[in-house]
Amino acid sequence: MADLVVTGGIVVTPSGPSCLDVAISGGRIEALGARPTSPPPSSGAPGRRSLQRTIDARGCYVLPGGVDPHTHLMSDVGPATRAALHGGTTTALSFTSPRPGEGLADAVARTRDELVPQAEIDIALHASVWEPERIEPGAIEQLASLGAAGVKLFLAFPELGMMASDRVLYETLRSCAATRLITLVHCESGGVIAARVAELIERGCVETHWFCEARPAATEHEAVARTLAVARMADAPVYLVHQSCAGAVDELAGARAMGQLAWGEACTHHLVFAEERYRRPGAERFLVVPPLRAPSDRDRLWAAIARGEIQSIGSDHAQGRTHPVDGPPRSFAEQPYGIAGVELRVPLVLSEGQRRGVPIQRLAELLSSGPARIFGLYPRKGAITPGADADLVVWDPAEEWIVEPGHLHDGLPDSPYLGLPVHGRVRQVVRAGELVVDRGRRVAEGPPPRFLRAWQASQPEQRRQPPGTG
Ligand SMILES: [Zn+2]
Repeated sequence: MADLVVTGGIVVTPSGPSCLDVAISGGRIEALGARPTSPPPSSGAPGRRSLQRTIDARGCYVLPGGVDPHTHLMSDVGPATRAALHGGTTTALSFTSPRPGEGLADAVARTRDELVPQAEIDIALHASVWEPERIEPGAIEQLASLGAAGVKLFLAFPELGMMASDRVLYETLRSCAATRLITLVHCESGGVIAARVAELIERGCVETHWFCEARPAATEHEAVARTLAVARMADAPVYLVHQSCAGAVDELAGARAMGQLAWGEACTHHLVFAEERYRRPGAERFLVVPPLRAPSDRDRLWAAIARGEIQSIGSDHAQGRTHPVDGPPRSFAEQPYGIAGVELRVPLVLSEGQRRGVPIQRLAELLSSGPARIFGLYPRKGAITPGADADLVVWDPAEEWIVEPGHLHDGLPDSPYLGLPVHGRVRQVVRAGELVVDRGRRVAEGPPPRFLRAWQASQPEQRRQPPGTG
């Protein structure tokens, strides 16, 4: 007999939504059954209690647990992952925060050994490259053998010494392709941005709202076009983080239409906010890189989601904001930035996606199965299918609520999402076969979370196949 049955819901499976019951046993999905074969919930007569537990999901969708491909959790991994869990994200891929001089593989091993045990959800790791001129020989191969999911380069932040040259970009793409790691690229023209920052400050334009003037959409578009071209020359797959503008999405869609193996990610804040936030009081709460864009860019992102031109949605959760300088900021360029969004990624994307008419199947793909496939975790993660880890979200599409301070679990004092109306609500979260969140309350710790070795977790052909293309 199964340990737990989720009954009565519309289950979003890899082949589409369907009225099924989900039987869970030993932390995994045991079977999916057609509705009439299972008894209705709480039909057991008094005195005939069985050990099997049932979640009544009538009126709700049952979705695969969220897989967040882009998070920065490690500055306070406990609260960050508790927040994730409450929001229906049961797996996160987090970036390392390497120490000065620390090797890429050393940073992954340290994070895995010291920080992941404090997490409350399953974690896979991407290696951040903050010192691109110091990538040690053999580092990429070491990362692959550690089971890292990806390697992230930045084409911005020359002032921090983080900007990768085209040579480093090309060589990293080559090495990653040879070892089946995915190269993730932060696409912004760092040199142009540095020059614009200097120009604006020279003119006395220092207020918060100038932040986005320093990083216009064209700086992202240029860097995306360049990255795609270099990846073609390197014959390597590439993942473009936080796509935020129409020009970048058009480049990616064009490259994919020509057969290039490239994936694009949108982030929650770019999907729900637009740049007018920078012209209102409290603008500094919305500072993020790339900045919020025009409403037309946001519409282009949603069109790309609906058409499958973007394959993944991340939160870019910043558990700690980035402080470019110590002390009080003297200009927009010295203001802290970054948005904590791991808890609201699933709820807000489902809310806004449904409002815009995007099918639930597509939303589940971008929130869960797409990232799991790209980073080699599928079908263990991202699929409601027999044998997969039993990570499930029961989502009630009817409930309406407004984000208030007491709703969030990340332990942070503020959120730019406060006050936002949300349609639909996460009702239950099952992780590794155990009901852990029930109507906003944490009801069990759940089994210990695991470090997921990404590239060994899937078959090569699953990894090589872009999601949404059959
Ligand atoms: Zn990020």
